[in-house]
Amino acid sequence: MLVFLNNRILSLDEANISPFDRGFLFADGVYESIRTYNKKLFRFRDHLDRLKRSLKETRIDFKELDSLENIIYDLIKKNNIEDEALVYLQITRGSAISRTHSFPKEKLSPTLFISAKAFKEDIEEQEKGVKVILQEDIRWLRCDIKSTSLLPVVLASQKATEENAVEAILVRDGLITEGTHTNFFAIKDETVFTAPKSRLILEGITRKVVLEFCEKFKIDCCEEFINKDDLKNYNEFFITSTTKEITPVTTIDYWTINKGEVGKITKSLQSVFKKITEDY
Ligand code: PLP
Repeated sequence: MLVFLNNRILSLDEANISPFDRGFLFADGVYESIRTYNKKLFRFRDHLDRLKRSLKETRIDFKELDSLENIIYDLIKKNNIEDEALVYLQITRGSAISRTHSFPKEKLSPTLFISAKAFKEDIEEQEKGVKVILQEDIRWLRCDIKSTSLLPVVLASQKATEENAVEAILVRDGLITEGTHTNFFAIKDETVFTAPKSRLILEGITRKVVLEFCEKFKIDCCEEFINKDDLKNYNEFFITSTTKEITPVTTIDYWTINKGEVGKITKSLQSVFKKITEDY
């Protein structure tokens, strides 16, 4: 496997990072995951805009954003990835021996790391639906930043794995925010609900695509928090992300929804998503 690290494409063995990198010491960094369809990076502009925003909010001074697209395509090519690729990109504030919590006085050079792997979505999950569990949202109050500080997510996600679920859906003060790495949607009376854009969720690119579909196909849509205690009033659920696309949720904790059948609106959104990605 070849990776990109600080201006060079290297084999994994050659890719070394200083233990004083602030990404390693403080998780002082931001990231993006992007995938290809027909070998083209899906909604790259949206990912780049979100990355720019994460950098701005964390005050990481990374300037070479315009070169990223070419670097990524080059990395995919050099890894000889047949079919589709999943790209992981991380930028940290850089390395400083001083290990001060505040930004070090010296000028830092941000660390840029990119990997690219072959990727295929899980068709079975998308056809049959998945189980999720509910977990308390113990993350910080800037979930709108795609930060590498992911310990609460690691723990919630591990709990989901231990309970044979594919995702933990997070609940803050009784309201559903999102999944550990997905956005959460529920449908009631043919209206699609999802948490509003705010500091409590990451504005997923797939979420944005789904909201665009709703507008285009005149499906009523409401960006409103869903109360955990009202879940049983909804009849369809799904999660969205770059890797999960639109994945139906058929079990929440011990509740099997609609006898495990995937709902009608979820299916129609999935088929529109399939069409636009096939034609991408
Ligand atoms: N919410 C969180 C917390 C995430 O980490 C992610 C993706 O990693 C998403 C939502 C979905 O975002 P996207 O659709 O851009 O992959």
